[in-house]
Amino acid sequence: MQIWTCSGCEQTLFFDNAVCPRCAAGLGFLPDRLDLATLDAAGDGTFRVLGTTDGPTYRLCANKVEHDACNWTVPAEDAEPLCRACRLNHTIPDLTADNNLTLWRRLEAEKRRLVYSMLRFGLPTANKIEDPEHGLGFDFLADAEPEFREGPGVITGHADGLITLNVAEADHAVRERMRQQMAEPYRTILGHFRHESGHYYWDRLVRDSSWLEPVRACFGDDRLDYSEALQRHYESDASTGWSEHFVSHYASSHPWEDWAETWAHYLHIVDTLETAWQFGMRAQPKVEEASELSFRPPRNPYRESDFDALIEAWIPLTQALNSLNRSVGQEDAYPFALAQPAIDKLKLVHDIIRDTTGSGAS
Ligand SMILES: [Zn+2]
Ligand SMILES: [Zn+2]
Ligand SMILES: [Zn+2]
Repeated sequence: MQIWTCSGCEQTLFFDNAVCPRCAAGLGFLPDRLDLATLDAAGDGTFRVLGTTDGPTYRLCANKVEHDACNWTVPAEDAEPLCRACRLNHTIPDLTADNNLTLWRRLEAEKRRLVYSMLRFGLPTANKIEDPEHGLGFDFLADAEPEFREGPGVITGHADGLITLNVAEADHAVRERMRQQMAEPYRTILGHFRHESGHYYWDRLVRDSSWLEPVRACFGDDRLDYSEALQRHYESDASTGWSEHFVSHYASSHPWEDWAETWAHYLHIVDTLETAWQFGMRAQPKVEEASELSFRPPRNPYRESDFDALIEAWIPLTQALNSLNRSVGQEDAYPFALAQPAIDKLKLVHDIIRDTTGSGAS
């Protein structure tokens, strides 16, 4: 993720800022320019980038105006009231009920990080109105009240371009309880979004393309019965040797889940490396075997053609990141170890994204 500077006062700005913390100027993310801009009123409810007198004008996303749930903008000539990220919503929860507004705002903040990555890569982001056949949508659903509930409730998943997330995942206590029940080392809203987007892009980039055979050769044959595979997974022993081949235990359940988990990790890697680059981070550890722990992130990880440049920076970066976390009494930020077969799968995801987005395979 990038960091920005307020053009009014030079304060450093972060992706989630809606107002400059120093000069109180209004801010808005410009999806067409991937820029967090300081805004200047340009009449009729439109804005220009502060310090410019011509150039494009923007409106605030309607979810900012009505619910303070977004900090993105819409080009003024675009008739759609919602920004590129918010117009992907197919269903949002009933905002008059319980704590739903607070929970939904958290979901939107994390979803914008996913959409940022999609835009940075140049991946397709059309919604189901713009592209009924291949478009992407989100259903944010709340469980019915217990007395009206039938079946297992809202289950997070992806089907035909529609990503469903239970809004309860945005409740930190609920999510932590789920993480412990499922014996997962890592469970975050952004992790869910990145994982489910992997299923969507498998349909878009792999299923009907020449990548299908290389993906099957690397991840296994996805024609394996899915529900039987998941059943077996939930009955299996989590301590068996999955870590020699997979990024996570869940990835070992079925080739589709392996792909989605690997895709999610690729997004973790690229976006975190961009953050590290933006902060000018690098490491030169004060130990004998310093070369294994030293890193320098590539300048533009989203456009980096050399996969090895990403992974060679990522592994030592995670060691530094985890050590810093432990120093402040937190759990590991990245509680995973990547074995060579998992790295080979990440390389394939890298090649497919670069091939699809016209950056050329590395
Ligand atoms: Zn400012
Ligand atoms: Zn929005
Ligand atoms: Zn999945």
